[in-house]
Amino acid sequence: MKALVYQGPGQKDWQDKPAPSVLKPTDAIVRITRTTICGTDLHILKGDVPAVEPGRTLGHEGVGVVEEVGAAVRNFKKGDRVLISCVTSCGSCPNCKRQLYSHCADGGWILGHLIDGTQAEQVRIPHADNSLYPIPEGADEEALVMLSDILPTGFEIGVLAGQVKPGDTVAIVGAGPVGMAALLTAQFYSPGRLIMLDADPNRLEAALQFGATDVIDVTRVNAVEQLMAMTDGVGVDVAIEAVGIPATFDVCQQAIAPGGRVANVGVHGKSVELHLEKLWIQNITISTGLVNTNTTPMLMKTVQSGRIEPAKLITHRFRLADILKAYEVFGNAAKEKAMKVILAAD
Ligand SMILES: [Zn+2]
Ligand SMILES: [Zn+2]
Repeated sequence: MKALVYQGPGQKDWQDKPAPSVLKPTDAIVRITRTTICGTDLHILKGDVPAVEPGRTLGHEGVGVVEEVGAAVRNFKKGDRVLISCVTSCGSCPNCKRQLYSHCADGGWILGHLIDGTQAEQVRIPHADNSLYPIPEGADEEALVMLSDILPTGFEIGVLAGQVKPGDTVAIVGAGPVGMAALLTAQFYSPGRLIMLDADPNRLEAALQFGATDVIDVTRVNAVEQLMAMTDGVGVDVAIEAVGIPATFDVCQQAIAPGGRVANVGVHGKSVELHLEKLWIQNITISTGLVNTNTTPMLMKTVQSGRIEPAKLITHRFRLADILKAYEVFGNAAKEKAMKVILAAD
């Protein structure tokens, strides 16, 4: 089969590779029908995630059809259409029992990281019963690809951890796919204002279409001053950090209102300057996290009912065999006006 293989920093290729087979009775083999590229894949290609070894197939998002299951798989059979979760979970270890699937003793984020991932014609999914979700009849499979990672990440680590409540003023710093996922799912809770911050005017324009009440172009104004001016000097109730650099975390900690919540979603590679000396007396809560995907079944219902439309995040479509072209477009997101790219195998 063909797969997108990481070959060390800056190098990748779409090449032949042996098709995966069932290694453990709890495994399933899934033929990929739709997959996508994540910002995390670009980080890996930059060499930021050294645990990824050359030879690894990338990708941790996608939907497909079950080709084969191990003897212990009970919930799925050959021919079932499934959503693949970016987080693998056994369902029975102490962390899984607490719904901390991202810290499963025999799972967590391993796809396209520690084991071969979904940017391939086929993928092996360990602990298939807990790591796959059945796709409802007639569902929009492209939309469901957004449920592998970005929707649960934006929702669980941004919206739920930030405790978005009716009437809240919410600032989302970063209008990339995960920031947009937070924007879509924050609306479950009817916040009063949803302020989106980014440096890309196209993304801010899209944010307004997806429900932002205000946008701030951080290349034109001082983000903190603007947020303070918009809130009569009080600050925002919830600040969701969806970039992962010190400057954007700083905006959140400076613009947060007393009693507010800073929910960090961004993947940080460097330490930030934490102003605890100012935050403690303001009753600020700071949260961090890696997605558990325990809200995936609930999110799937909201997509099925049309309550949220994650397919709006898809800007480009390619054949799976043209994945190298797709990487080029996604890697130049601002120039290409790219948000999420879909790769289709059939
Ligand atoms: Zn991802
Ligand atoms: Zn587990």
